[in-house]
Amino acid sequence: MSKPFNFYSGPAVLPDEVLEQAQEAILNFANTGLSILEISHRSKEFTAVVEECIALVKELMQLTDDHEVLFLQGGASLQFCMVPMNLLPQDETAAYFDTGQWAYYALTEASRFGNIHIAASSRQKNYNHIPRQYEVPANARYLHFTSNNTIYGTQFSNDYIHQLLDSSVPVVCDMSSDIFSRPLPFHRFGLIYASAQKNFGPAGVTLVVIHKNLAGSSGRSLPAMLDYRTHIQKRSMHNTPPCFALYVALLTLRWTKRLGLHQLAHTNLRKAQKLYNAIDNSAIFRGTVAREDRSCMNVCFTTGNSDLDEKFITFCQSHNIVGVKGYRTVGGMRASLYNAMPEAGVDALIAAMQEFEHRITTDRA
Ligand SMILES: *Cc1c(COP(=O)(O)O)cnc(C)c1O
Repeated sequence: MSKPFNFYSGPAVLPDEVLEQAQEAILNFANTGLSILEISHRSKEFTAVVEECIALVKELMQLTDDHEVLFLQGGASLQFCMVPMNLLPQDETAAYFDTGQWAYYALTEASRFGNIHIAASSRQKNYNHIPRQYEVPANARYLHFTSNNTIYGTQFSNDYIHQLLDSSVPVVCDMSSDIFSRPLPFHRFGLIYASAQKNFGPAGVTLVVIHKNLAGSSGRSLPAMLDYRTHIQKRSMHNTPPCFALYVALLTLRWTKRLGLHQLAHTNLRKAQKLYNAIDNSAIFRGTVAREDRSCMNVCFTTGNSDLDEKFITFCQSHNIVGVKGYRTVGGMRASLYNAMPEAGVDALIAAMQEFEHRITTDRA
């Protein structure tokens, strides 16, 4: 059986060559004769993995020494509380965009640590768009947004992000589901975080990029593991890191660098446009979010009939296409088109949609 096209939202598709190299390292890592699963994290071979990961992120994001690159555990979900713990003093305010479930979780966690001002919200519309009007109090310690709303399939455009970066307060971004999918002025962010399992590796490792001035800026006394300063000082090696996950992230970062963010962005846009065109030209499928906010990473669509959606998802499975079921709060379908999704996968999905539509319409006739 050939490998199915994998449209899962995360953990998600990885490049084939990454999987092959990861497999080799399970038996013989860096010609040590040892497995990546059993070698000491303090060995020089493994320390080199962490250092290369840091260097690659700095290069891909074109960062200077003003930013620190950290690899942590606990997923993006831990960052929902680590960010305010480290950046938000008790009686002060942070501004949050409420544009999806992850954004909402982030602001809910932050409300335990200070005052939260909702800059804008699309919650009442089941997050089907990104609000154009927003308000950031001048005294906010930072502005938080989620660049790509994985569950709903909306994404902040490059222009919108540039506009946010022009605000007078530090900008914090959850980039879990679109990091490295396009070039951005990464050096202008105060803090960026992303769990690896959507666009640059397996689950278990989370990237944090933080401007040096922000670490410790809440003035709180924090447990060492939850204090960015610990991980900055120890170069992400304060305790045992998730060695295998980091190694696979390194392989994926090398692959990402080889393609480059410009080319990846170009391909990502082409893949998404193809699929949106197929949806717009279909008599039975339709998109679920505002056109101008459509995500290049997670394409959400529906027939408007949950039984028919279910039939289509089963139909996909029989065509070697997996992971297209939408999230339970949205229903319908969601096709995740991360960097490693080959264009052939998108073509296969479109062909399945057309064949399904043909069967349905001829059945009805
Ligand atoms: C998947 C996801 C999360 C949650 O990540 P975990 O690593 O499971 O904590 C948070 N934010 C966004 C945007 C996501 O896509």
